[in-house]
Amino acid sequence: MSDESGNLREVSSARSRGRVVGLPKKCWCGELVIPLISKSTANRYRRYFRCDFAVEIRLTNDNHTYKWVNEAFLDEVEALSFRIGRLEQTILAERVKEERKKFEELKLKLETEICARMEDVVSKAKCEVNKTLVPVVLGCLIMVVLSRVI
Ligand SMILES: [Zn+2]
Repeated sequence: MSDESGNLREVSSARSRGRVVGLPKKCWCGELVIPLISKSTANRYRRYFRCDFAVEIRLTNDNHTYKWVNEAFLDEVEALSFRIGRLEQTILAERVKEERKKFEELKLKLETEICARMEDVVSKAKCEVNKTLVPVVLGCLIMVVLSRVI
C-alpha cells in the first residue's frame, strides 16, 4: 500500500485516461473512487482518491483514477469559479434582454399615448377652426349678398 501511494506521485502527470477534473466520483472503469491516506514516506498521511477496483487488486502504475485530495478540491474550486462566471454572464445577458423588452414596451406605450393625445389635440383644433370659420364665411356671404343688393 505504501509503495502504491508513493508511485502515484511520479505517474500522476503521465496518466491521461484517469485524469478527472474536480472531485472524482467514479473511475473510467465504472468503479467508485474512494478516499485513502498515503503511507509512503514522501507523502505520509496525505489524502488521495483512488479507484476501488485498483485498490482491491493492488494495481500499480495503472491508468485507473487516483488524485490527491487537495488537488481535487483546487480543481473543483476552479471549475466552480468558471461555472459561476458563466452563470453571471448568463444572468447579466438575461437582465439586459429583460430591460430591453421593458424599454420597448414602455416606448410603444408612450408612442401610443402621444399619438392619442396628438389626435385629440388635432381634432379639438379642427373643431375650433370650424367654429370660427362658420361665422366668418357666413359674414362674408352676407357681405356679398348685401353688396349686390345695394
Ligand atoms: Zn478504475
